[in-house]
Amino acid sequence: MKSLRCFRTSLSQQCPLSWVCKAAVLGQFSVAVVSNEEPQMSPYISITTMISILDVIIKYYEDFNLLSDRQHGFRRSKSTITALTEIIKIALEHKTREYAAIIAVDISAAFDNAWWPALMKRLDEDGVQASMIKLLQSYFDNRRIRFRYSSTEINKKLRYADDITLICWNKSPEQLRKTIDNVLRKINKWCESRKLKLSDEKTKILYLYKCNSDIIVSGSKLIKPVEELKILGVTIKNHRVRSKLDFTPHVNEMIIKVTRASGYLFGLTKKAWGLDFRRRLILYKTLYRSTITYGYPIWYPFINKKSKDKLNSLQYSILKHCIQAYSTTSSDCTHILAQVPKLTEYIESNMLKTEINYNRFDSSSRNIISNYIREKLQKYYEKTNTIFKSFFTDSQIPKYVKPNFYNVQFFTGHGNFRSYLYKVRKTDSPKCSCGAEEENPVHILTDCRLVEDLRVKNQININCLNQIVNNRYMYINFNRFCRMFFSNR
Ligand SMILES: [Zn+2]
Repeated sequence: MKSLRCFRTSLSQQCPLSWVCKAAVLGQFSVAVVSNEEPQMSPYISITTMISILDVIIKYYEDFNLLSDRQHGFRRSKSTITALTEIIKIALEHKTREYAAIIAVDISAAFDNAWWPALMKRLDEDGVQASMIKLLQSYFDNRRIRFRYSSTEINKKLRYADDITLICWNKSPEQLRKTIDNVLRKINKWCESRKLKLSDEKTKILYLYKCNSDIIVSGSKLIKPVEELKILGVTIKNHRVRSKLDFTPHVNEMIIKVTRASGYLFGLTKKAWGLDFRRRLILYKTLYRSTITYGYPIWYPFINKKSKDKLNSLQYSILKHCIQAYSTTSSDCTHILAQVPKLTEYIESNMLKTEINYNRFDSSSRNIISNYIREKLQKYYEKTNTIFKSFFTDSQIPKYVKPNFYNVQFFTGHGNFRSYLYKVRKTDSPKCSCGAEEENPVHILTDCRLVEDLRVKNQININCLNQIVNNRYMYINFNRFCRMFFSNR
């Protein structure tokens, strides 16, 4: 009811300020990151009432077929991904046969005051209700983004999505240049009639054939070709093979970005935030994994093994932080303890999901995906070391087992044990002080007389290590034992 009243008031007056701000809150952080260039980092919070007004208008336009099929922004069942998919499909289709180019058109100061009269006029001509138009105007007029972190607050005007991508092709490079010139002239003309301006510095051309020195002259404008072009958050480069595009720069860029961001986070969490495993993992999945996999249907099919390895090793190093493992801990143990498939396999499982949903095998699709992931985890399990295998009999980790700095050392054997330190040449003997041949987790937990008191105190009385994780109470005792064991060293 409150929102209805709010809505009614707005019809005659103006949008409440809270409607025109975008903000997101994440646990202790208050985050709002919204920018056109980085849709993958944008946790979109929909302002439901406003969205439904937009929906009404969009529906009106769709019902009367007033929108181009090529418009993907603000459309139902269309997104940046569908836009990118279409761009890549058309570009490749023509790249294989002809001379083609992708052009990212930038219109400077789109949607500023000069633009409004034209848009309002258009809405009016198309028969949209006056109250709707008025409300929209108020909404967009002062649209802002707010970012709050600790005592700092940034509050600035939101930029609007005005991404236009053109794909041009023709039989020869000369004819292609003419086509591009023609198209840009037309766009220029359109812009001028609406008091807009085509920005020649920000408009970029990517040729999809080997072409070094071409410069497009559009009217009096010089538009330089680029080696790499970023469209809707995905960086595209030409590939020497005619049927391909090169997304290596995109993957590398994402890896650098996520490595840097996760470095900040784990720097923070180690010292001050003290987040536990679950929260770290949630942060990884929601912030980093979603960032790095953004647009995967577009670029994943084109990347080579080297890029795939890089993606996997990025996730591996972040997961090691999540479970607080020693840096030498194997990828297989790390992924099983986190219960996360390797990044490439995660992407492939998502592609499988899309394929299944596309073919409408809904009922069993969830099972197929979870089986797929379980199979992968089981494969990692087969490659883990004997200590890990003596704790866990397969790749399934009980829900109550939460990896931390202490227990992971025991689970993996990579920790402050003389057997391990000897292997990495930090000590000159693997022998335990009690005289046993090797000081390792098995010896400590079942056999070593020097820690017998500690075992008794924590009721650790076992024959095999598997008993520890198969019983919740034993597991709690074990965790206490681990902490005490390492703090005494
Ligand atoms: Zn011993």
